[in-house]
Amino acid sequence: MQQMQRPYNPHAPRPQPTQPEARKLTAEDKQKIGDWVASKCTSHDCPVCGQNSWAIGDYLIQNGSYVAGSSKPGRASYPAAMLMCSNCAYLRTFMAAPIGLVE
Ligand SMILES: [Zn+2]
Repeated sequence: MQQMQRPYNPHAPRPQPTQPEARKLTAEDKQKIGDWVASKCTSHDCPVCGQNSWAIGDYLIQNGSYVAGSSKPGRASYPAAMLMCSNCAYLRTFMAAPIGLVE
């Protein structure tokens, strides 16, 4: 997905970790994701539409753990990188920790 460039402003406050800008994946993070996928996947064709055109999401996503009998997720969560098919919008997700994106 496209990253928007902003003019440099030395007086702008640094983004706080809770702000979306601070959680955005860096170019280095995206390179790690691309390298991981290239080294592990035997096929890069989308399982839905068959095309091979993927965009790496700008942010990690977080899957909450299942809690029986509750509609709310548990405290444990599983951050993941996402790749979106540029044609049909199908999402592939990869756990972020083995890729080295989170501790
Ligand atoms: Zn597709």
